[in-house]
Amino acid sequence: ATPMAVMVSTGLGAKNGILFKNASALEDATKLNVIVCDKTGTLTVGQPEVVEIVTAKGITEDQLLTAAAAVEQGSDHPLAQAILRRAEKLTVEAPTKFESLDGMGARAETAAGTVFLGNRLLMDTQKLPLDGLESEATRMQEDGRTAVHVAQAGRVIGLIAIADAIRPSSKAMVEKLGKRGIEVVMLTGDNEATARRIAKDLGIDNVMADVLPAQKAEKVKELQAQGKKVGMVGDGVNDAPALTQAEVGFAIGAGTDVAMESADVVLMKSDPYDIVGAIELSRATVRKMH
Ligand code: ADP
Ligand code: MG
Repeated sequence: ATPMAVMVSTGLGAKNGILFKNASALEDATKLNVIVCDKTGTLTVGQPEVVEIVTAKGITEDQLLTAAAAVEQGSDHPLAQAILRRAEKLTVEAPTKFESLDGMGARAETAAGTVFLGNRLLMDTQKLPLDGLESEATRMQEDGRTAVHVAQAGRVIGLIAIADAIRPSSKAMVEKLGKRGIEVVMLTGDNEATARRIAKDLGIDNVMADVLPAQKAEKVKELQAQGKKVGMVGDGVNDAPALTQAEVGFAIGAGTDVAMESADVVLMKSDPYDIVGAIELSRATVRKMH
């Protein structure tokens, strides 16, 4: 590698908000044939909003939101912020014994009983029957929403549908990489139905959903074991091990510090299309060197 070409390209990248933290990433990026993208906060904006509330029989919307918000006060998950914003005007009690349940949701004790909230898997593991709300949950997810299930005192009291807008350039990024012979894979802790719907809107065929935070790096390893050269793009704490595992890790600039520390490249503008720019820059640099 001629140090001059690398320096020029690193400078050019930085000027365009693409920070290469090391010279080897610039070379490694030329070899990538798969880009694994985290969904929430990477392909989507990561600012989820409550768009629909469905309650079980005999439960009011305020009751549902109060129970959910009580638990979410203890969580720093983006979904928690959405629920807390929606419950702003309500009086919410401070829960006790808050516990985050990795990749599934959270629990806490309230005056009216234990509250569990999160995905379907959490309801199933806690043996909380959905009381006829299955089809509502399915419909929400097929619309690309995340259905947050809320249970209190042993029964599901309702569903909160949360939507997160797709970043404007995500689709163009998928298309362009496809033309360059690079496949895009979605990797998410969210459920299969929601993930599939969003992937379909983006033109992504390969979806790995319901992946627990600890398994994200494993999924990258599996692709590498198939001989793939993997780039990973993510924003969250839960993406950090996968960013390190990948040949090249790309962090979204608006993401967590941990993700940026684990990545080789930081996309300062938080624009997924800059992946294309980063790869083109690396290809141009390596061409100049030979
Ligand atoms: P991701 O953020 O990529 O979806 P996570 O592992 O953080 O992955 O969460 C997986 C799923 O668990 C979420 O999609 C959501 O359904 C549920 N979940 C996790 N934490 C919470 C929370 N605080 N409130 C509601 N649901 C949650
Ligand atoms: Mg994320």
